[in-house]
Amino acid sequence: MKVVTILGARPQFIKAGSVSREILRQSKQGADIEEVIVHTGQHYDSNMSDVFFDEMKIPKPNYFLGIGGKTHGAMTGKMIEKIEEVLLKEQPNWVMVYGDTNSTLAGALAASKLHIKIAHIEAGLRSFNMRMPEEINRILTDRISSVLFCPTQTAMDNLESEAIDEWKTGAKSVLSGDVMQDGALFYRELAEKPLDLELSEKFVLCTIHRAENTDDPARLKAIIAALNKIAKENQVVLPLHPRTKNILQKSDFDTSNLLIIDPVGYLNMVWLIKHCNLVMTDSGGLQKEAFFFDKPCITLRDETEWVELLEVGANILVGADESRIMSAFNKQPHFKVDDSADLYGGGQASERIIMEMLGG
Ligand code: UDP
Repeated sequence: MKVVTILGARPQFIKAGSVSREILRQSKQGADIEEVIVHTGQHYDSNMSDVFFDEMKIPKPNYFLGIGGKTHGAMTGKMIEKIEEVLLKEQPNWVMVYGDTNSTLAGALAASKLHIKIAHIEAGLRSFNMRMPEEINRILTDRISSVLFCPTQTAMDNLESEAIDEWKTGAKSVLSGDVMQDGALFYRELAEKPLDLELSEKFVLCTIHRAENTDDPARLKAIIAALNKIAKENQVVLPLHPRTKNILQKSDFDTSNLLIIDPVGYLNMVWLIKHCNLVMTDSGGLQKEAFFFDKPCITLRDETEWVELLEVGANILVGADESRIMSAFNKQPHFKVDDSADLYGGGQASERIIMEMLGG
């Protein structure tokens, strides 16, 4: 069985790290499975890409398409064209795509037109916000996928409410659990403290990169103002995404109280999550990682796909409103993270996914 995996963005490298490890494990045990990796080039800085391949021992990509830094349409279009060439050459049984980026949609569209089966990992998530590029990518990818691997029961329910049973495409949803939990469990003991970083005993770990925040000056301004207030008494560590860095450099927002650092590799990131007191983020992945490491999370968005974290009281949604951010921050010592709930499959998602594909 040949699987072509399409990757391009940081969270996809982290997710694929666990699945590739499982493919290698199964193939060493005699399973008939081979993976060909295609890196679209959507994220290309070494600290947004290479570091994950090195640290997580993801096999080097067989193809690097070099398509980054373009508008959504140009990027997606060029990716479809190049991925199609690879698929025609490789003739795989499956194309595997992850999450909700332009690389995900391009991979799925190229495969669907060649009638190649598509496995969508992290299917069924919805924010119900059609202004999010990720929401468009996930809905369209789900609609043309063959097996939709859902990380949560909520994702399964979303697909059911979209009548997946009536699509008449033979598509199937499978509750696999979340591959990010596999990674968090595997790497928790391998975490490494970032060198040269002077950290207080208590610090807040923050990331900001969603377009809805970075591309809206009023939202970004409110978030930075709240972080600055918090930073007067608490160290705030902000590994900064290149997109946010570019925008902040052009702005006159005061960030002098914040400890801004370059994006870090996964082993450093896991260390920071393990040792911080609180996570503040607009990242999808980091909201769950906070939970995996028993840390409360304040989410700087108006909605989240990971609603079960709100239900168990591990996460609070505050949007980009300074007073809501401050009031959540002041309440945060009283958050109770109930880590006993098995919300994400317990770390066996990759195995379930590969077993299903081998059997299917
Ligand atoms: N991450 C990382 N280094 C950083 C910032 C984030 O390794 O400097 C990891 C983070 O722990 C999570 C993933 O990147 O596993 C999340 O990616 P991102 O926030 O870019 O995307 P999203 O999850 O929002 O799709």
